[in-house]
Amino acid sequence: MKNLLSMESVSNEEIEAILKRAAEFEAGAKSQLERDYLVANLFFEPSTRTKTSFETAERRIGATVIPFEAGFSSTLKGETLYDTVKTLESIGMDAVVIRHKKDAYYEELLEGINVSIINAGDGAGQHPSQSMLDLYTIFKEFGKFEGLNITIAGDVSHSRVAKSNIIALRRLGANVNIVCPTQWQAEFEAHHDWDDLLETSDVIMLLRVQHERDAAFEGYSDESYHTRYGLTKEREKRMKDGAIIMHPAPVNRGVEIDSSLVECERSRIFKQIENGVFVRMAIVENILKGRN
Ligand code: ASP
Repeated sequence: MKNLLSMESVSNEEIEAILKRAAEFEAGAKSQLERDYLVANLFFEPSTRTKTSFETAERRIGATVIPFEAGFSSTLKGETLYDTVKTLESIGMDAVVIRHKKDAYYEELLEGINVSIINAGDGAGQHPSQSMLDLYTIFKEFGKFEGLNITIAGDVSHSRVAKSNIIALRRLGANVNIVCPTQWQAEFEAHHDWDDLLETSDVIMLLRVQHERDAAFEGYSDESYHTRYGLTKEREKRMKDGAIIMHPAPVNRGVEIDSSLVECERSRIFKQIENGVFVRMAIVENILKGRN
């Protein structure tokens, strides 16, 4: 892969190769990069997991991570994203990992930029590396995607994780259902009640209420949202044997999920984070090797 921009731009075969390589890394494989590659992580929006996870992955495969602090960069002097990325390319970066509040920010970079771009989240657009680590987590659990019932619950309209996962999981043969208030279903069909989704789902994936994106939380308080759409203790009891709970985090405890369920037996929330490092090692390695 030259870039990783969205899940539409990745084939099922490429996904399969990334998941396979991630499993090798998890089993202890070492990366053998042929030269010293330089990578910078440009996070123009807050991040705990994704930034640290990419940095850890880059170091583990032997790439050199060049520090970049968006809050202290020339962006504050009005420099455009294109000029910032072109500057890093001129300094010698091989790849940049970018998170930006603008949907599809990468479109303005595709012409004129040669450095590889890894999208670490574009506004309410996509979050492909999160999707890949979610796929890895699901595949490790069930050994397949075909025929799995996956329910995504929450603010789909503002969730780049949901958008990437809906595209990828449906293309891989999973049955994806959505449950959320009408104002958050975006262009997707959705249930407005849990109906029988608790009893039939293999995976329940919860989404964070995106308060910072002016999520229209109309008509709901944290409590009333939790009662109507959250994963409460009572709802968890109705889930079928072997079904798992996922959440990309950060979690609003007591809103989309009861706090006591965050680390319950079914929860894979911290497993997802652990898996993310192996998956990002595979993604960055794939992209850097493609530059030889
Ligand atoms: N960390 C994920 C993201 O950046 C999920 C979230 O923030 O809700 O999209």
